[in-house]
Amino acid sequence: MVEDDPMIGRAVSTGLHDAGYAVDWLRDGGGAETAVGTGVYDLALLDLGLPRRDGLEILKGVRRKGGKLPILIITARDSVADRICGLDAGADDYLVKPFDLDELLARARAVIRRQRGRSSPEISYGSLVIDPVRREVLFQGTSVDLSAREFAVLEALMKEPGAVVSRDKLEDAVYGWGEEIGSNSIEVHLHHLRRKLSPQLIRNVRGVGYRIAQLP
Ligand code: CA
Repeated sequence: MVEDDPMIGRAVSTGLHDAGYAVDWLRDGGGAETAVGTGVYDLALLDLGLPRRDGLEILKGVRRKGGKLPILIITARDSVADRICGLDAGADDYLVKPFDLDELLARARAVIRRQRGRSSPEISYGSLVIDPVRREVLFQGTSVDLSAREFAVLEALMKEPGAVVSRDKLEDAVYGWGEEIGSNSIEVHLHHLRRKLSPQLIRNVRGVGYRIAQLP
């Protein structure tokens, strides 16, 4: 919580504490961007009118750096333009003071719930990270575009990273029942994957299948 008003700050932190949350309370805008950007929190409650640094600037700074922490604005700035500005700057919700503590807690729960629903189970091995829900691939810190079938091959190899996967299993992962499979199509996808990622990433295990190598 970033809040300079001692009465509101005390009431909210007591309410959050009673509801079972651990609360760190920052009393001015200095250092708030760093704190909010650390990634150790489930939620930030952010006042806008703060000493040293305005809350809106803190919010923009966090989002500019790619910070994904849910941020709920709590402020006395109550105009429609202010609300639009706050939400467009990347806030997940906006609550105007004076607010009811129970409503704040309900909104906090909703924002945290949405955030957890968004986070998907990533699989990583060495410097390769795949996100099966978002269909995203990150290799050595860089996002890589794959076709749906290339992704399916990679996903099959990443189910048990490092384990050998037979060619039949790869075909099952990529092609539906009754689909026509070209005789060397898996090899074609593997060729593309090696070209887009690394020639060393997918190893042939002669007569058995393929496996992912753990690359730094
Ligand atoms: Ca304030």
